[in-house]
Amino acid sequence: MVVRAILLAVLCGLGVLIAAQPQDRPFVIRNVRVFDGVSVRQHQSVVVRDGHIESIGPADALVVPDGAEELEEDGRTLLPGLIDAHVHIDPLRTIEALGRALVLGVTTVVTPTIAEPPEGSHLADVKISERSEAHLLVGATGVVDLGHLVTRSNSFVIPTLSVLYRLCETPDAAAVLSSCQEAREAIRQLGAADAVVLAGTDAPFPGTTYDASLHWELEHLVEAGMTPTAALRAATSAAADAFQMPDRGRIAPGLRADLVLVNGDPTSQIRATRSIEAVWKRGVRVPRTPWVMAELCS
Ligand SMILES: [Zn+2]
Repeated sequence: MVVRAILLAVLCGLGVLIAAQPQDRPFVIRNVRVFDGVSVRQHQSVVVRDGHIESIGPADALVVPDGAEELEEDGRTLLPGLIDAHVHIDPLRTIEALGRALVLGVTTVVTPTIAEPPEGSHLADVKISERSEAHLLVGATGVVDLGHLVTRSNSFVIPTLSVLYRLCETPDAAAVLSSCQEAREAIRQLGAADAVVLAGTDAPFPGTTYDASLHWELEHLVEAGMTPTAALRAATSAAADAFQMPDRGRIAPGLRADLVLVNGDPTSQIRATRSIEAVWKRGVRVPRTPWVMAELCS
């Protein structure tokens, strides 16, 4: 018991130290595949300084600043921090929810309402936007071409397939949806019309979470017919554009260093977004176990 208490004291102290450690030294993530929010580039290096992306360029040509820490990440893929375009913040679980989201690479969540969004380097950012109040309830898709409807109205759609698929699999959902196939048909129409589709989870809808569900949503979007690259856009640059967040959603000089490093290539295998190696928010590396620490230390 005493040993456990000492161990916990050491661990918890360490957790605080890790969480508080700022990253003031510039660093370079070397030789990675970069999905820059729009398209893919091979063999790139990205320099981060003072919380922002300083430069990006071919790994063999980029000038590394003096004193920069070099992270050799050959074969991995660097993505902009993911944006969940539609959540509801449960006031009783805000800190835990935003902490878990950040650990799984979701650096920003968009919610229609919240009284006082909490802030911190260990929490996903909260963007409040009434435009986020959008659900795709699919009825008779054969009657209206949803894609043209959305593009004509200069709007966007957050299909929240994670929720739709839960609903359409239950017998009492018949009033809302006649089949899961109609949800897929709606995504196909949106894709064919080049309509803006965003990735959102509707967490904490039963069965969804603020962290893992966005990765599921990306997979659902791909299964419904989007390319992996289009699905990644839906969770990065397209969401940043839709909600007027010009400082994020892309990997480009001057933008926030909200970054996710994954093993493998999610631009061909979308499930690779789950194989997270590192997450940075504003250039600060996120400790990957803060909620485990929080549970141990409470
Ligand atoms: Zn909702």
